[in-house]
Amino acid sequence: LGVSDVHVKHKLRTTREELILKRALSVKSAELEQRLRERALLFDIVRASASEQELDHVLDDIARRLGKALDLRECLLFLVDTKTRRLTLRAAYGFEKPGELLERIVLFDEGALGKVAQSAEPIFVDDLSTFEDSPLWEPISRQGAIAILPVVHHGQTAGVMAATRAGASGFSEEETGLLGAIGDQLGLAIRHTQLFDELRRGSQHDDLTGLGNRRLLRIRLEDELHRAERFGQPVSVLAIDIDHFKALNDRHGHPTGDASLRKLAGLMTRNLRRIDTIARIGGEEFVVLLPRTGLADAAQVGDKIRSIVERTEFPGGEGQPGGMLTISVGVASLQADETGADLLARADTALYEAKDQGRNCVVSATQLAGGARSATS
Ligand code: GH3
Ligand code: MG
Ligand code: MG
Repeated sequence: LGVSDVHVKHKLRTTREELILKRALSVKSAELEQRLRERALLFDIVRASASEQELDHVLDDIARRLGKALDLRECLLFLVDTKTRRLTLRAAYGFEKPGELLERIVLFDEGALGKVAQSAEPIFVDDLSTFEDSPLWEPISRQGAIAILPVVHHGQTAGVMAATRAGASGFSEEETGLLGAIGDQLGLAIRHTQLFDELRRGSQHDDLTGLGNRRLLRIRLEDELHRAERFGQPVSVLAIDIDHFKALNDRHGHPTGDASLRKLAGLMTRNLRRIDTIARIGGEEFVVLLPRTGLADAAQVGDKIRSIVERTEFPGGEGQPGGMLTISVGVASLQADETGADLLARADTALYEAKDQGRNCVVSATQLAGGARSATS
């Protein structure tokens, strides 16, 4: 071998090594880039889930980010209720009309989604066209790959995440790992927003009856007063108080009184509109806020509730005067330049007038502030 041959061989080896090195480097940098993208995605999801937005907003945001970052065809997020054993679809990416799918229910014993919710074990299918399992879920097309993962938080299944991809390549190990990590984060997000909602709900609702409390009434009253002013629409309130409730409590005890309060709350909820606010503002005192309702209509609503109560059997009601539980109602309708407090005070004055007139009746406050009142029944 001459000196030049050695040189050439060495050179050859160098180019080959260089090539291998370069290839390895480009693979590494692609991996690195991929890692970075995953980190960014996770970071975005952490940030979205820590925001104090409503849960549906958060879920929608996450589904969209996941769909785009992982090149998914569809991404679905379900909330799981282990008590009623059902999944509810709360976010859908990649569908033409997601609005038609949201809120749809899947039962625990319905196909692969239900199986994942029930077992908390993920299911990965590389080629859906050969997937033999019981119905998947008819809106999801039976092509390409799917990954269905449980969303678990503190050992509790809070949701199910389903990701599909066109083509039969399936998901790589890294991707399923990433989906798992996102699932954990999602569990946190769901719990976080649920706690936040509970907190908000708890601070505006009454534990005994589930009705609104004074705080909710104040918030809604403010909103409605604004609206009434802006659109020139009427707004009215009913002040309701149970008649001789002390007697019922004294005779049958507090638990029976509580049961009656709950029954009355349910009855009002069922017989009023969804836009009405029903608040329990004291022991056996309630206020109903009636948007877009004038005085005469409000008095009619009040009398409808009064007459339903009179005809309904309540725990301990048979021992009340007249053999039944009754309520008295004061009605007032918003006047120009009146505050919410003024309005409530006039309804309250009308309620005391109803008590004066013998109870189990409805009295409307006249349009004169604090002035004379007239009975409507
Ligand atoms: P009136 O017809 O004048 O309204 O008579 P009343 O007995 O209903 O009025 P009063 O205000 O004297 O008594 C209200 C009673 O309501 C006192 C208490 O026994 C009962 N009460 C208040 N809050 C609760 C509660 O949370 N649970 C139960 N069970 N009873 C309550
Ligand atoms: Mg009372
Ligand atoms: Mg009272």
